[in-house]
Amino acid sequence: MPSFPQHLLEGYRTFTSQRLPTEQSRYRELSERGQAPEVMVIGCCDSRVSPEVIFDAGPGELFVVRNVANLVPVYAPDGGVHGVSAALEYAVQVLRVKHIVVLGHAQCGGIRAFIDNVAPLSPGDFVGKWMSLFIKPGEKVGQRAHETMQDFTTRIEKAAVFRSLENLMTFPCVQILVERDRLHLHGAYFGVAEGSLSVLDQAAKEFRSVRELIG
Ligand SMILES: [Zn+2]
Repeated sequence: MPSFPQHLLEGYRTFTSQRLPTEQSRYRELSERGQAPEVMVIGCCDSRVSPEVIFDAGPGELFVVRNVANLVPVYAPDGGVHGVSAALEYAVQVLRVKHIVVLGHAQCGGIRAFIDNVAPLSPGDFVGKWMSLFIKPGEKVGQRAHETMQDFTTRIEKAAVFRSLENLMTFPCVQILVERDRLHLHGAYFGVAEGSLSVLDQAAKEFRSVRELIG
């Protein structure tokens, strides 16, 4: 049997000696009272884009779903099995989160695979099928004239955030609470190289650097 990765065991040892002592009471309280996060984050699986790290969040603060390219499917009560929809249903109906943040990012492998229209990675073509969620029937996505590949990729990475926000509103439980001002949807985009964060100004349909907002 392969051994459990040593660096994970060492990481856990560091956690128990450094972080746990300062957060033990918080963990115990969360264990007794249950979790009550106010924020749900829908992010990418990408190992560089950890919501808890980016938002400096402690235990119990963020309810996180991560999948390839931070996608939310459209509401589909079709008898199928839907992981993101299950997490969303729980966050909204049980935890009553007040905010849902869709967190996109630069150099997204899922978006890259979509743009390059890569061949199936396995007979299941799970990434290909998953990324097809991003496209509406009949919609075409292509590089614009005079648009660099870098700009095109960034535009599509941000478009994935817009699409997920749009798809969130197809869930009746989300739509009702948003209309009652009890649930707020947000978009954000993380620049991996600089550690930069932009948030979506929904009225202007533009991402704005957080550095401008926090000064
Ligand atoms: Zn990604």
